[in-house]
Amino acid sequence: MANFNGNCINDKVAGITPSLTLSITAKAKKMKSEGISVIGFGAGEPDFNTPEYVNEAAKKALDKGFTKYTEASGITPLRQAIADKLKTENNLNYDIDQIIVSNGAKHSLFNSLFVLLSEGDEVIIPSPYWLTYPELVRLSGGVSVFIKTQAKNGFKVTPDELKKVITPKTKAFILNSPNNPTGAVYTKEELEALGKVLVENGIFIISDEIYEKLIYGSEHFSIASLSKELYDSTIVINGMSKSYSMTGWRIGYLAAPKEIAKAINAVQSHATSNPNTIAQYASLEALINPQGKIFLNNMVKIFNERRKYMVERINKIKGVSCITPGGAFYVMLDISILKGKKYKDNVMKGSIDIAEKMLDFGVAAVPGIAFGTDDYLRLSYAISLEDIKEGLNRIEKFVNIVVNGDSK
Ligand code: PLP
Repeated sequence: MANFNGNCINDKVAGITPSLTLSITAKAKKMKSEGISVIGFGAGEPDFNTPEYVNEAAKKALDKGFTKYTEASGITPLRQAIADKLKTENNLNYDIDQIIVSNGAKHSLFNSLFVLLSEGDEVIIPSPYWLTYPELVRLSGGVSVFIKTQAKNGFKVTPDELKKVITPKTKAFILNSPNNPTGAVYTKEELEALGKVLVENGIFIISDEIYEKLIYGSEHFSIASLSKELYDSTIVINGMSKSYSMTGWRIGYLAAPKEIAKAINAVQSHATSNPNTIAQYASLEALINPQGKIFLNNMVKIFNERRKYMVERINKIKGVSCITPGGAFYVMLDISILKGKKYKDNVMKGSIDIAEKMLDFGVAAVPGIAFGTDDYLRLSYAISLEDIKEGLNRIEKFVNIVVNGDSK
């Protein structure tokens, strides 16, 4: 009989960290179910409905009987639409056999790391990072190497910081611009400077561009488009979740050099087969229908209003601050001044304690430690402006009490 007392889980999986954010979310949910008002700043998805024209395309796909297996890498018209999008919007030329459609960008990231990494390979990840990256690296047998970025540099990695962590074992670098959680957006020049170091050292780039469209006042550049060498060493990751508010449809994609795409296609064909057929037809329509631009412009306009409000309001609260995020829909609230302070006789050691105490004030935020930094909380503005206003009023009250002993 198999022995299940302890060691049946392989080392890679046994090391996975359960989500740190879970306990806060669970507590917030419980409070809500008890009728307590909680403003949830944890949202990781746009608070917009999937556009109606996309839903209609899914219904049509069903009516036409598109409910069977497709090519493992996705239907040809969808991969063609993605190739066209990459050409016109990102100045990138890919054949459709270089494009693999998967079950969300997360799956594309997993496929990329799984195919690239051998046991012990190092992957450089700028910190704060999206919390899934290190776990995917670990699952693929790799080792994460973090570069702590600074708010004063807009949370962006500099070429010197990058050079310092490169070793003979470095295999890949994960770039995420616009960034979750910091909102950092790299300029073309910054990407060129980083790209130069990466190419010189033969390092692959996994460029997660999922927030490409959620950008305010600057331009998105795909690092793969900046030179032939960068094109040859980059896997571009993107998807439908954020741009078209399609998080639940689970469609993401990657574009890669031919050899890598071929390997990923083979893995996917055995691991999951094609992503959901109906969702693929809906995604095709999302990409090619001109209504997509109207939907997107409206969403970006609303996010931008909330972003501006948040940044202004936060920086008026004495004791906390934030820098202006250039993209995505998150603000990093600097709570370093609250660390080590007491609330109701308990010392708040770090971001988890602070997030837990804030719950008493009816605010749920994600502790920065989940993203590799204990000095911040992540606040999402994928919630209504009304909720943002109320939530920040509550945060101000909490901060005043902790910092100034103000118990008004
Ligand atoms: N990459 C980043 C930086 C994200 O924040 C997310 C989702 O939160 C994803 C990828 C995953 O997106 P998808 O829903 O396509 O799997």
